[in-house]
Parts: sequence; structure tokens; C-alpha cells
Amino acid sequence: MDRPIAPYVTPWTGESTLPTTVVVTASGVEYADPVQDALARDLDGALWAVCGGTATGRPEYAAELHPERQRTAMDDLLCAGCGKPAARDERGMLWLLPLIGDVAATSWEGVRSSIPPMCEDCAETTPRLCPVLRAGHVKLRARLAEPIGVRGTLYPRLGEPGEPDPDALVLYASPDLPFVIARQAVRELRRTTVVAFAAAIP
Ligand SMILES: [Zn+2]
Repeated sequence: MDRPIAPYVTPWTGESTLPTTVVVTASGVEYADPVQDALARDLDGALWAVCGGTATGRPEYAAELHPERQRTAMDDLLCAGCGKPAARDERGMLWLLPLIGDVAATSWEGVRSSIPPMCEDCAETTPRLCPVLRAGHVKLRARLAEPIGVRGTLYPRLGEPGEPDPDALVLYASPDLPFVIARQAVRELRRTTVVAFAAAIP
């Protein structure tokens, strides 16, 4: 059987984040293995989930984007669909975002995205592959896309009650940054131009 085609940032059933021993100290979270900890930190000092497995099996569209490829695409502004440079024109870089919630009330100016940008070709083909975009999306251009933080699991401070929050948005400027294990890089889109809305593809 031919291997299915899937966007670059889509995780596969053969991939997962690896279980790691997390230690919470007064100054933040760290991996018990110091080598693993050093390898998993980005330039901002944020600790990232460790990915394992191989891109085999089936694409998992319902899951969060693959942490390593998502971060690579966001850092280097590569296309979420193919991993090549994203499209730019005089209105800015091209982004396709799902329509979630009350679309009429949504302002796309300042929208925070964990979906990387796209190239022109993938903007046409990816909605046919990805059920999230197939359910309706906005195509927009953004002149600015500043990295603002990460999404991930936020651990309570030492001695604080409560469980880790598995899906927290933590800004780079936040005192929470040392206490998060990141899985998605987030950029804030500004000076946006809405190009088109696409209804659900049946
Ligand atoms: Zn592409």
C-alpha cells in the first residue's frame, strides 16, 4: 500500500513524545538527565518535549502538530504543508487558520497561531488533506509574525497544590516560562489582510 501523503507538521501514529523524568525545582522544571535537558532547551531557555518514533503508520490529524517539525517550521517560517519557505508577497506572509468559535466576532488582527505559514501550492492542497482546515478556514496575509511564546504543559510551583495544566499558553516574557514543557511555538500575526474565507469542503 502506498504511504499516505500528509502535511509536514502532521504527526504520525508511529511518533510520540517520549516519557521523561521531570523534576520541579524552585527555579523551574528540568529533565532529570542533564544531557537530555541541555539538548531540549531552546535559545530562550524554554524546555521542549522530547520526540520519539518515526513518521510511519497513519497521519494523526486530530493530534497536536508534531513538536519538533512545528517548532522548526515556526522558527524558520517554513510551510506547514511541505517544509519549504512559506509564501510572501507585498501584503506579507501567507497563513491558513481554521475557523473556530464565533467567526463573525473574530478579529484576525493579533491572532495567535501555532499553525506555521504556508506556500501557495500547499494553501490549495492542504485543506483537502487536513480535516481541521477542511471544516472551514481563513486565508490571510500578515506583515508581522512575532514569536510570542509557547504552548505546553505548565507545572505548578514547588509547594503549590494542583496538577500540571496540559495546554497552557506561556509568553516568553512570563515568569511561568521556566515552569513549562513546550510542545508548540506561537506567533502573533499583525498587520493582517484577510484574503478569503473558505467554507467547509464536503
Ligand atoms: Zn508548502
